[in-house]
Amino acid sequence: MRHLIGQPAAVRPQAFDLPALTESWRVEYREMRRFTVGATTDQPGRIVVFGAIEDVEACHAALRRWLARRATETLPPWLERVAVQCRPTPTDISIKNQRTRWGSCARSGRVSLNCKLLFLPRDLVRYVMVHELCHLLEPNHSSRFWAHVRQMDRGADDHHGQMRDAWKLVPAWAQPASKLDF
Ligand SMILES: [Zn+2]
Repeated sequence: MRHLIGQPAAVRPQAFDLPALTESWRVEYREMRRFTVGATTDQPGRIVVFGAIEDVEACHAALRRWLARRATETLPPWLERVAVQCRPTPTDISIKNQRTRWGSCARSGRVSLNCKLLFLPRDLVRYVMVHELCHLLEPNHSSRFWAHVRQMDRGADDHHGQMRDAWKLVPAWAQPASKLDF
């Protein structure tokens, strides 16, 4: 009998959903004579991964770069809309693929968001945005900080609890293989 323990099976995803954007994507793979793998949006709802596709990890990395591009297109304008309601405005927004954080906020006013937020429901994405924006007001988790958060998100306590298990919504391929990897 075989059990899956630890490492997930090395399979290339055929499809995935991005609940944050209410999008569903199909993935097609095209073998090409080259040493690298790329991923591109071929038509609405379809991604083509091309190149040395027998390298499953290289396919995953190409999909992660695609995910980061999709996040860069969609999350900063969304954060700006939330910031208008929240008041504190970030000086800069960056998209990362952090392994352990959904978002972060620097003293400079820069807010970083994890591209894997795209796998979460919209209300949780908004919660993470509100959370980071409120750190521009209070750089701690004091009761004053939570008062700001609850003012901007009535479901904040619920959402905070749901974030504990939110990693389970992220497919294995989206998690960077190492800290240096995107
Ligand atoms: Zn925090």
